[in-house]
Amino acid sequence: MLRIVDCLTLEHDLSLVLLAGIICLLGCLSCVATGGRAMAGERSSIWVTLLGLCAGCTAWSTHFIGMLAYQTSIPITHDLALTVLSLLVGTLVIGSGFLLAFWRRHSRPMRLSGGILVGAGIASLHYIGMQGLRFPGTLSHDSDLVIASLFAAGILGALAVDKLFHRNTVRSRLLAGGLLMLTILCLHFLGMSATRLELGLFEARVGVSRSFLIVTVTLVSLLILMSGMLAAIVDQRLSSQLALQAERFRMLADGAFEGLIVHQDLLILDTNLAARNLLRLDEEHDERYLSDWSIEAIPLQQLGDEALIQEIQVRHDNGSDFPAKICRRAIMLQNGEQGEMIAIRDLTQRRENEARIAHLALHDVLTDLPNRRLFNELANSTLEHARKHGKSFALLLMDLDNFKAVNDMYGHAVGDELIQLVGRRLTDLMQEGDVVARQGGDEFSLLSASTRQPEDAAALAERIHAVFASSIVLDGAQLQVEASVGIAVYPDDGDTVADLMRNADTAMYESKAGGKATTRFFESRMNLQLDARRKLESRLRLALELGALTLNYQPLVDCSSRSTVCFEALLRWTDDELGVVPPLDFIPVAEQTGLIVPIGEFVLRQACRDAANWPAHIRVAVNLSVAQFGNYNIVGIVKEALESNGICGSRLELEITESLLMDDKSDALATLAELKSLGIRIAMDDFGTGYSSLSYLQRFGFNKLKIDRAFVSDLENNPQNAGIVEAVVSMGKSLHMHVVAEGVETSAQADILSSLDCDELQGYLISRPMQADEVQAYLDDASSSNTGEGDSASLAA
Ligand code: C2E
Ligand code: CA
Ligand code: CA
Repeated sequence: MLRIVDCLTLEHDLSLVLLAGIICLLGCLSCVATGGRAMAGERSSIWVTLLGLCAGCTAWSTHFIGMLAYQTSIPITHDLALTVLSLLVGTLVIGSGFLLAFWRRHSRPMRLSGGILVGAGIASLHYIGMQGLRFPGTLSHDSDLVIASLFAAGILGALAVDKLFHRNTVRSRLLAGGLLMLTILCLHFLGMSATRLELGLFEARVGVSRSFLIVTVTLVSLLILMSGMLAAIVDQRLSSQLALQAERFRMLADGAFEGLIVHQDLLILDTNLAARNLLRLDEEHDERYLSDWSIEAIPLQQLGDEALIQEIQVRHDNGSDFPAKICRRAIMLQNGEQGEMIAIRDLTQRRENEARIAHLALHDVLTDLPNRRLFNELANSTLEHARKHGKSFALLLMDLDNFKAVNDMYGHAVGDELIQLVGRRLTDLMQEGDVVARQGGDEFSLLSASTRQPEDAAALAERIHAVFASSIVLDGAQLQVEASVGIAVYPDDGDTVADLMRNADTAMYESKAGGKATTRFFESRMNLQLDARRKLESRLRLALELGALTLNYQPLVDCSSRSTVCFEALLRWTDDELGVVPPLDFIPVAEQTGLIVPIGEFVLRQACRDAANWPAHIRVAVNLSVAQFGNYNIVGIVKEALESNGICGSRLELEITESLLMDDKSDALATLAELKSLGIRIAMDDFGTGYSSLSYLQRFGFNKLKIDRAFVSDLENNPQNAGIVEAVVSMGKSLHMHVVAEGVETSAQADILSSLDCDELQGYLISRPMQADEVQAYLDDASSSNTGEGDSASLAA
């Protein structure tokens, strides 16, 4: 140890030692800089070669300047050939050490082995250089120290290289640099300590002078070291710029909607964000292959070719598929090998949207049931199938009976909810192959695909009615909803879907007309009836235009005096083709078609015109249909009829039926109040047949009550009817209403009615309806017989 310290302090020029140290430091820094570049991954072989060169030069310059710092009285020169050889051999071995370590850098033993080789290179450089010393004497070595120097170089070199190629961090690079420096210095100074120079008598061969060497070695080594360092710094800059650029490209790629995947033989090398999301990959994923993707079918495009995009089903690892658009391109990978880039766009969302749009085209938005179009398609294919196999099926049309009332009363939101609920309940009723669809509004169509017809259709209709048997509660409102169903069966009721639909519609119409909550199978007579109804309608229209409608009048008499107090106007129609049509046949048609409005107007005018010719105390009664109320300005029409004929309101009675009260109550109430304010009397016609109670009548302020003739007809034989009539009379009186009995045909009935204190009588007993021009004669006749025969004389028809 002492020998080493002596060697350093006594035998060396310290300023040159310092220079050697600086060169060694710079050289080692340069080495780790180039080593770092090699580890960064690009052009690694060049950087490792440069590293070997750098390390060789560093060790060599350190060695020579260290040698020159060696102070001795002996004149020393250097053999040029051996000096150069030491540089070459040393650099070669050191370089090989680095190459070996770098090439197998993932294995620690190999890194250490490479490092030992580096240490050996430095040692060989030193000891070959020592052999090039020229002085008059002999050179010998202390073998212990030589061995120690070799060990130190091997161990330190191994540690340095191990650190350098283990991780590419600044810390490990600096540590490696320090260790490398230590290796060079240790080897040199241990080697120098082992050296003995003994003067001899012979003349030494003269080599290159020392001062020349100092300058040359310093300059050359500095040049090499600086250029290595510079190259490393420039490269570092360039790399970080490239890294920045790469980062920018990555951001661009990550921002793309398309997934981008770079792969080599299906092994995924790189992905952008969209691709990772699509593949459900983490950024740091393990080796993953696009193994299940059958992309071979898609042609591989060369870079620069026009993009060829194809659609395929792509399979996830979990086995699920998704539709995608894919384009493949050949690319050159960083390592110069052929790779491939796949651009992929997930079409799942788009497909879902397309499916949604297609669904909307064929389904009802409110209920999501098939719409009319889809129903027709399905019905057509069912029909084709039935035709081919000689099978049967049924079409059902269903319509809610009081939907309009629900809508008006509770608003459209509740109406919509009701439709949805009905849709769901109908769907629950369906059996395999059956279809339920919404035709629009409150109308649903159903297809009973089973071939056991008409039994199954009837059973289905039963189930439909059962759905509505209990009341439906929506939005706090308790709704009583019923449905009418019409059924047409293939092939009996039509052999096209259009025919079947039309006939089911006719049947449904019939079912509605024949009382609600019922089912009707189509019958061919229905079409005949429909035709007849259509014919009646057109003839009626014509009759109204041509003035073929006339009025008859039937008198109402005071019960006790039997004097005529009023005439009821009754419509009469004799058609050229249809003959005499009773009002009970044509008035419902007029009501359904709206013709009742102009007809009613005609009746009002005509009745007022005729009444104007009668004595002032005789009133005229006109029947009004419910359809004449509503939006239509009935008050205005009545006023006009009265005024234009110069009669006052007190001469007019209006007869309405109870059904008016069932409809929109507030409106009817207001209209009736207005009419009453004109002095007009309001009579309740056909009392007892409907559903109204006497309290209703009071609220509406009726003046008159006409007991339906059904109660009157067998009054004398049916004590129950007599009881009812008695009760109605007494209650009517208590409500200050006149009570009229209509349909009085026998004097027995008249006697009972007068004993019950009925106010007025009407019926064939008094008179049948007569033509207008007969009224005057009738009145004259009646008054003469009244005066001639007294009050008790019967008024024969
Ligand atoms: P209604 O208002 O109850 O008219 C009385 C009906 O009973 C009339 O039949 C009349 O001829 C008949 N009748 C009168 N006395 C007797 C009798 O003693 N025995 C029997 N069996 N029947 C008797 P009509 O003229 O066939 O009218 C039938 C219905 O047509 C009327 O019943 C009324 O509801 C309606 N109607 C008639 N004319 C008009 C009109 O101008 N406008 C409206 N909206 N409805 C009308
Ligand atoms: Ca009447
Ligand atoms: Ca009546």
